[in-house]
Amino acid sequence: MTASLLERKRRVMMPCLYHFYGDNPLELVRGQGMTVWDREGRQYLDFFAGVAVNSLGHCHPEVTAAASAQMNSLQHTTSIYLSELPIALAEDLVRLAPEPISRVFFCADGSGANEGALVAARIATGRPGFLAFRPGLHGRTSLTLAATGVAMWRADPFPPPVVQFVEHPALQPIEEHFAALEDVIQTTGAERFAAFIAEPICGNGGILVPPPAYFRRLKDLLNRHGILLIADEVQTGFGRTGRWFGMEHWDVSPDLMSVAKALGNGLPVAAWLATEEVARAVTSPQASTFGGNLVAMAAARKVIEVIERANLTSAAEAKGRFFRALLATVNDPRIAEVRGKGLMIGVELRQEDGSPDPTLCDALLMRLRHCGILAGKTGAHRNVLTFEPPLIVTEAQMEYAVSQVSEALALDCSPLAGSR
Ligand code: PMP
Repeated sequence: MTASLLERKRRVMMPCLYHFYGDNPLELVRGQGMTVWDREGRQYLDFFAGVAVNSLGHCHPEVTAAASAQMNSLQHTTSIYLSELPIALAEDLVRLAPEPISRVFFCADGSGANEGALVAARIATGRPGFLAFRPGLHGRTSLTLAATGVAMWRADPFPPPVVQFVEHPALQPIEEHFAALEDVIQTTGAERFAAFIAEPICGNGGILVPPPAYFRRLKDLLNRHGILLIADEVQTGFGRTGRWFGMEHWDVSPDLMSVAKALGNGLPVAAWLATEEVARAVTSPQASTFGGNLVAMAAARKVIEVIERANLTSAAEAKGRFFRALLATVNDPRIAEVRGKGLMIGVELRQEDGSPDPTLCDALLMRLRHCGILAGKTGAHRNVLTFEPPLIVTEAQMEYAVSQVSEALALDCSPLAGSR
C-alpha cells in the first residue's frame, strides 16, 4: 500500500518534495497525543511533532472541538471584513510577546510571516538589505530563501543579492564573531542593512544555541547602526524552549518577530509582529486571503489557553533538562554534543576523526523508527539527531527514547537502507 502510494507520489508531486527514510518513507494515518500510527497499525512515539508543530500532541480534543465549532458556524471571511477572533488572538499574542511588540499581521505559514517581517523592516528603515546566520533557515519565498544559510534548503539558484551572512555564534569564538559582524557592517555600509533576521535557537541548522549574553550584545550593536532585529520564532515559539518565545532566554526585545508552527498545533496559522514604530511605517494597504482564517484562529486561541492553563512552558523547561541529562549519560564517542533548550534538543554525531556523521544519523533515525520512535535530523551536514516532542511527553517516554538511542548505538551501526 505504502509502496504504491510512493509510486503515485513520484508521478504527480514535484520531485523536489523531500521525505525522511529515503526509499522507505513512513505513511502516517492517525495520531493521538504523543502517538501516531502507520497504515499497517504500527504505533510510534512522535518525538519530532511534525517539525515542532504539535506541541499539545496530536488531535488535542479541545483544539479539535474549537476548530470544529468554528467550521460549523463560519469558516472563512478574509481580512477585508471585521471579525472578533483574529483581534482576540492578536490581543493574546501582544500580551505574550516581549514589549514593545504591539502589532500583529496574520498569514498562513512561517515563510510568509518572515517575508512580511523582512519587507516591513525595509519599509520602516528605507534600507534594502539583511544580515543572517550561516547556518539558518527562514523559508521558501524569495527573500526568506535568500536569507537561508543552509545550502540544501536554498532552492533558488538566483537569490536576490541582498543578504550577508555571518557565522553562527555557537560555531565561532565570540570575539571573532563580533569582529566579523562589525567588519561586514563597516565594509558594506550600515545604511544598506534594514534588519538582522535570527532564529533565537537555530533549528534546521542543527539546534545551535548562542552563548548567554549574545543577543543583548547583538541588539546593542544593531541599535548603534540603526539596524532592526527580526526574531524568527517560527520553531522556538509557544513554549518549545521553556519560555513563550526563544528570545526571552536572552532577555532581548526584537523589533519584529515571526510565529507559525505550534501556534495552530497543526492548523496553518502564522503571523509577523512588530513594534508600534515599525507597524506605523507600513502604510500601504495589505491583506492576506487566509491570514486570520477563522478556523485557524479558533484553534490557535485554544492552543494558547491550553499551554497557559497546563503551564506547558515551564513543563518544557523541566522536561528538556531531564531529557538532555539522560541523553548525556549515553556513553558513546560518536556523540559530540547534546544541546538545546527546553524540548528543542540536538545530538550531534561525529566520526572518529571529528568530521560530521550524517550516515550514522540516518542509521539511528531508521533504527529508532523500528523501535517505535520518530526523531528528526538537522544541521548543515545533516548529522544532528533532533528531538522536538509534544510538550506533553512523559518521563517514561523520554527514558524509553534514550534507552533506544543507547541500544541503537551499541549495535553495529553500519548504515541501514535508509534516509537521505
Ligand atoms: N523559519 C524557521 C525557523 C523554520 O524552522 C521554518 C520551517 N521549518 C520556517 C521559517 C518556514 O516555515 P514554513 O515551512 O511554515 O513556511
